[in-house]
Amino acid sequence: MRKPFVAGNWKLNTDSHLSVALAKAVAAGSADLAGDRVSVAVIPPFVYLQAVAKAVSSSAVAVGAQDVYFEPKGAFTGEISPAMLKDVGCTYVLCGHSERRHVIRESDELVGKKVTAAIHGGLLPILCVGELLEERDGGKMEQVVERHLWTGLAGLDVEKMSAVTIAYEPVWAIGTGRTATPQQAQEVHQFIRGLLAKMYGKDLAAEIRILYGGSVKPDNAKELMAQADVDGLLVGGASLKADDFVKIIHASV
Ligand code: PEP
Repeated sequence: MRKPFVAGNWKLNTDSHLSVALAKAVAAGSADLAGDRVSVAVIPPFVYLQAVAKAVSSSAVAVGAQDVYFEPKGAFTGEISPAMLKDVGCTYVLCGHSERRHVIRESDELVGKKVTAAIHGGLLPILCVGELLEERDGGKMEQVVERHLWTGLAGLDVEKMSAVTIAYEPVWAIGTGRTATPQQAQEVHQFIRGLLAKMYGKDLAAEIRILYGGSVKPDNAKELMAQADVDGLLVGGASLKADDFVKIIHASV
């Protein structure tokens, strides 16, 4: 049985006061469910990680980072290592979010290195996969998602793979208000689970959580979560409003 998982990606938003207030409100609002019935994570900007980790330390809300570098240390100006993220209280890390793939131009190979480094560093990576609108319209959705999975998970054996969560985020649905229909989400999630079964066997594929992300709101969360292969939600915009995010957490169980 896969426990639902709801994660809020704050992107380049909040400030030192707001991030702590938002984290505390999420912890208070989800206290009845978080941990036992649903895994909850907040994913603030790097500079607020430590303060947010402290703010949720007496709750079951976990903290994640939005990115990580694959090298452990050295002359890599501006980068953050897995050990640094662990040191400030991170459990999860996003790898290959579409904004990093398409705005910052991260390659598939770089994303794969980050996933591997995150696991070696004791973090739980959330590997984001998903197609652009022109790729979907051009009939290439499956090809793109398959490539993101193969390259993102390159070199991971069954044991390491059990640390990974997959997030399917169609790029055309992120921040656009245009959500994939529950049927569209289910179709791709089922396709992903089938691929995972081919790569790692049916048993592990049945355990891996596959989150949906793309304009998730309190009013569409329940219907998305009702799909057999939708195990959780990666939420951007709506995670910046504690009330909305808490409603989404409640809708996920
Ligand atoms: C995201 O940032 O991963 C995301 C899905 O954003 P939004 O919910 O705003 O579409």
